Amino acid sequence: MDGAPMTAHELAIVPEGMIADMLTRDAAFDAVEKVFAAMAAGDAYNFPVVREALGHEDALYGFKGGFDKVGGVLGLKAGGYWPHNLERRSLINHQSTVFLFDPDSGRVKAMVGGNLLTALRTAAASSVSIKHLVRKDAKVLGMIGAGHQATFQMRAALETHAFEKVIGWNMHPEMLPNLERVAEEVGIPFEAVDLPGMKDADAIITITSSFAPTLLAEHVSPGTHLACMGTDTKGKQEVEAALLAKATVFTDEVAQSVSIGEAQHAIGENLIAESDVHQIGAVINGTHPGRTSAEEITLFDGTGVGLQDLAVADAIVETALAQGQATRVPL
Ligand code: NAD
Repeated sequence: MDGAPMTAHELAIVPEGMIADMLTRDAAFDAVEKVFAAMAAGDAYNFPVVREALGHEDALYGFKGGFDKVGGVLGLKAGGYWPHNLERRSLINHQSTVFLFDPDSGRVKAMVGGNLLTALRTAAASSVSIKHLVRKDAKVLGMIGAGHQATFQMRAALETHAFEKVIGWNMHPEMLPNLERVAEEVGIPFEAVDLPGMKDADAIITITSSFAPTLLAEHVSPGTHLACMGTDTKGKQEVEAALLAKATVFTDEVAQSVSIGEAQHAIGENLIAESDVHQIGAVINGTHPGRTSAEEITLFDGTGVGLQDLAVADAIVETALAQGQATRVPL
């Protein structure tokens, strides 16, 4: 059975513990780049997000789903945030699982651990934006945020573009060694800076759980590319709304950008209109020119869409099946 194609009467399971061996950063990048392109071409769409405060364990639980008609990928990611997991049961606070279904029949095809997958697909999204929007001569990467996601973001960015130095700022400076360790491993210098020091960055990734802007428009130099990845909920905000008015704004999904992403604030303050927010997939497809000058500020508002999870999960299942590593359960 090893390596044999799935039959219509089997479910493939790839548990969390196996994801690290089944998913490379390259594979995550390719899957996310392709699905962003498919979304912009109208070949794939996301379903409305469900997110509920459970009133139990202070948990937030929800579903992100979608359908990629061309890729034949249908499914959802279920999960959320349990803030007491680490202290109470030594589990990480973010917990999720992806379920894939056969779009022809509706039968369940696969169940895939979603925790590491989420970190890698989120890092892949900012990297896709860096590949397509950063200035070719960019040398300095700025990091705002130094938590769990930040290290994934930083590694993927350093693999995507030949940055020569990383500068970092975090509201909790005691977490900055997380970034320093990655820089050391990659073999490039790291420097902690204050927020005005971010003017030296050619690309900036923001990945915090902030509800008020920390990075202001005056902290960003002309020609910078920003990937704002932390804001994925109503009320969250990492950068000053005025920065979006100065930038050409791209996103994974316009509907999410204007409601739960950074653009919610710039639109709320009438600084930009929904029509000013462009799909990154259009740049990938070549139907939007992307960056058009060395002085232009580009900003990717990465809100995180279900199709990213499904595309990456589908790639994992294919690898796991090809390697005979997936658990196959008769239905
Ligand atoms: P984490 O808890 O490990 O780290 C949180 C980070 O935010 C730390 O750097 C912390 O110092 C900083 N921070 C906390 N409060 C802050 C405040 N008030 N102002 C400024 N900074 C503050 O979390 P994580 O797993 O690294 O996730 C970071 C963010 O990314 C979260 O908001 C999460 O919801 C979001 N996220 C987005 C996506 C996406 O697809 N866009 C995917 C996963 C996570």
